[in-house]
Amino acid sequence: MFRSCLLLIFTLFPFYGALYGQETRLCGQELLHAMHPEWASLSEKSKAFNAFIQNLEAPERVANTIKIPVVVHIMHLPSEIYGVQSNITVEQIRSQIDVLNEDFGKIFGTRGYNVAAVGANTEIEFCLATRDPDGNPSTGIIRFPYAGSNDFRLAQDRNMKDLSRWPVNRYLNIWVVKSIQSGILGYAYLPEVIATDPEGSFIDGVVMGAFYFGSRDKQLLGQNFHLSNTFAYGRTATHEVGHFLNLRHTWGDGGCEIDDGVDDTPLCSGQYFGCPPSPARPLQCGFNRMVENYMDYSDDACFNIFTLGQKTRMRAALQFYPFRASLVSLANVAATGCSDSGGTISFADTIVKISGDTQTIRVGRATEKPLRIRVINQLGSGFNNEEVRWRVISQPFGANLLLDTTVRTSDGGFSDLNVLLSNIPGRYVFRASANTFKTPNFVDFAIEALAETNAYPNPFQDEIVLVLGLPSIGNVQVRVTDLQGKLVIAFSTDAKEAVVLNMSGYPDNFYLVTVVSPKINDYFKIIKITP
Ligand SMILES: [Zn+2]
Repeated sequence: MFRSCLLLIFTLFPFYGALYGQETRLCGQELLHAMHPEWASLSEKSKAFNAFIQNLEAPERVANTIKIPVVVHIMHLPSEIYGVQSNITVEQIRSQIDVLNEDFGKIFGTRGYNVAAVGANTEIEFCLATRDPDGNPSTGIIRFPYAGSNDFRLAQDRNMKDLSRWPVNRYLNIWVVKSIQSGILGYAYLPEVIATDPEGSFIDGVVMGAFYFGSRDKQLLGQNFHLSNTFAYGRTATHEVGHFLNLRHTWGDGGCEIDDGVDDTPLCSGQYFGCPPSPARPLQCGFNRMVENYMDYSDDACFNIFTLGQKTRMRAALQFYPFRASLVSLANVAATGCSDSGGTISFADTIVKISGDTQTIRVGRATEKPLRIRVINQLGSGFNNEEVRWRVISQPFGANLLLDTTVRTSDGGFSDLNVLLSNIPGRYVFRASANTFKTPNFVDFAIEALAETNAYPNPFQDEIVLVLGLPSIGNVQVRVTDLQGKLVIAFSTDAKEAVVLNMSGYPDNFYLVTVVSPKINDYFKIIKITP
């Protein structure tokens, strides 16, 4: 089977190059497996994983959103400055993260939506990390000049990743190069390969061609996205992340006799390209081929489904493989700045509807926040180029926030504000008003600011004081984990001002402390050092 695939790859693809319009999907999975015959013996590992799925408790199959922190390494050609070719813009990168969320979330009103009976919202979300591995603020995007970016060779896989990598058990690393050899659009390793390969922790992640990374749908006027014609909607990354979560191609890289290990994807045979007009799907192995499955080889425009069986398989991979479980542990999601109520919530694209209702947004730390607020009307369109007056109309006792400013909205109705919430936790209510809002001519929304915690001394020897500074007693949960996300200590307390954490008897190390209460949602790193 591999031999015939290789023949196809090497006879077809050298002629394709970057000729848009003649493109055919090719994922690196097949070539990689051909390069690594030793992976064929992974079937024993697959058996253990399949048994794990069979024994999964029912609750795992119900609602529970999993978040995956992502870091994107733009390995651009040294000659290409920001925005040129391989050095793609922030907006193009963000458009790809949006597509992942739409496709994995089966979001209504996007290309990722479907009405199939087996169509799943996987409840897996992706977040560009806002904290680097040391806990420092980050955009989750790294730009690295890399001479091998064009026609990138698979043989350079490890060498390229050695130049720029964040711990693979804490981040989904995505490396973007200008182009990959043999016309490959992207590739990723199955976790069962990573688990057994001695270089697993150096190569785990997704590699993508720059011109397949992002979505034409999200390109606004004046923005410069570099995307292929056929693979312009970000579905290559959806497919590769599917591999990263242990999904195989729907045809199992074989004929009718080979299954992909998922019950509700119909059996099919061999590669299939293009976008057949619905509902004229090819009949194979006694079934209509599910060409809209992200794990097929169809064009971006006709993909829209992960099945319930694929959902189970992906979520099981996130439990079964320790280096995937650590990725999505709550402690790691917090440490990478990806929790909803973590320390660096972005207010980008917060939507305030002109319907008189009050919106509440929770923030982790009561410090200065950039607010990007979109004011939209009842029809869902933005108030472009309007004078909007922003004021604070109420705030917690002791807080002293002054905001009374008029901002002209940009196209789409966005207003950019920097708001200093001070260190007083509580509810801040803002009002936006404009004559064009008609009735009512204002809208209120609230920000729920939570207390900030700190700790001293840090570094410490045996005991460290966690300062809570709460206005009243209440139900504080404290969790201490190591930086791999393994739980070390957990307790709850009714303390109001401070709590002493005794860690004598624990090894010297970095630890992550998470403090959660109705008025706090914070985390920070502590360092235990014995002189
Ligand atoms: Zn693939």
